[in-house]
Amino acid sequence: MAIGRVPPGSQSSLREANRARIVDTVKRLGAMTQVELADATGLSTATVSIIVNELVAAGIVTTTQVTRSGRRAFQVTLSRGLGLVAGIHFSTRALRVALADPSGTIVARQRLPLPPDHRHDTDMDRAAQLVSDMLESIGAPPGELLGAGLGICAPYNAETDMLSVPGLLRGWDEVRLAESMSRRLGKQVVVDNDANLAMLGESRHGVAREASSAVFVSIGYGIGAGIMANGELLRGHDGTAGEIGHVRVSENGELCRCGNRGCLEVMVNSTAIVHSLRHTVGNVTLRDVITMARQGDIGCSRVISDAAHYVGAALSSLCNLINPELIVIGGELADAGAVLLAPLEAAIERNSLRNPLNPPQVQLSALGDDAAVHGAVAFAFDSISLPITAVEASA
Ligand SMILES: [Zn+2]
Repeated sequence: MAIGRVPPGSQSSLREANRARIVDTVKRLGAMTQVELADATGLSTATVSIIVNELVAAGIVTTTQVTRSGRRAFQVTLSRGLGLVAGIHFSTRALRVALADPSGTIVARQRLPLPPDHRHDTDMDRAAQLVSDMLESIGAPPGELLGAGLGICAPYNAETDMLSVPGLLRGWDEVRLAESMSRRLGKQVVVDNDANLAMLGESRHGVAREASSAVFVSIGYGIGAGIMANGELLRGHDGTAGEIGHVRVSENGELCRCGNRGCLEVMVNSTAIVHSLRHTVGNVTLRDVITMARQGDIGCSRVISDAAHYVGAALSSLCNLINPELIVIGGELADAGAVLLAPLEAAIERNSLRNPLNPPQVQLSALGDDAAVHGAVAFAFDSISLPITAVEASA
């Protein structure tokens, strides 16, 4: 919106700042009525009304009539015509790509399985090809893509544009992630750890919408956490905040890929769970184990309960440190539902500082496997400038 091109303090700079405030508020908080917009921005309803009309004329926002408390109101959303962003998620075993409009609504999605030791070059080529194919499939020209958000299943340092710690994800070290993906797409790309993005996704579109301090924990082929403290993602000094999978839970445990012994991720991961059942249940997949546990199989329930015990103990330390009001459980193991949740809650209650009046709530992810792509889309829209210079021309 070219703020700064006019002298600060002038009438027109104030109008531009107010327009930017309204657009940013709708970007961050989603569809809202003009009265809600006035509340959220601190502007008068008359000012909001004038600016919204200008933004409608410029094609930046659209309004639809809704009913609130029995009264008619105009709900403001960002116009779909502004363009699309791509959310890309490289997890341990899958690539997920979604295209979303400015309201955060996903208009196309794809999933591809990935081999265990996938590499950045082939994966990024695949992702770029998928984005291109998906744009074509919905009849959108390439120019409609504004940019992309990328989630990666390892800690990421935004300053170096590389993974924070080498060795955690083979085939992805020493690669400038945003730069590499941006080169392939020809668009701006922003990157973050996938658990951070899943936390962001749940806070915008999932179970954490009302929470200002929350934790998203992914339990599956790896374990990671995204932390939201007072409404902001907590990434730490170089992006390793929330790496709960590398908290030591066993003094003499097996060696972890990080080089330490007895990390939570070594004790609890999908491969270890399946492996521990080989003598009693035989060759099964994680999906089989979850299905049998939900049907009451004692052995399958036990291994999931043991996993929950370890994760819960590590989470209780995190609860003492950052005091979240909500813990969101995602990842492949979340499909076990109550079989996982009940022992997890018990372990947190047993090991953390007790607050019987206001204990942290533990809930399953509402967005499931799509949590990180939703977060990637939100992160991209937050970071990428929308093409709203048309406002100036029309105003
Ligand atoms: Zn480790």
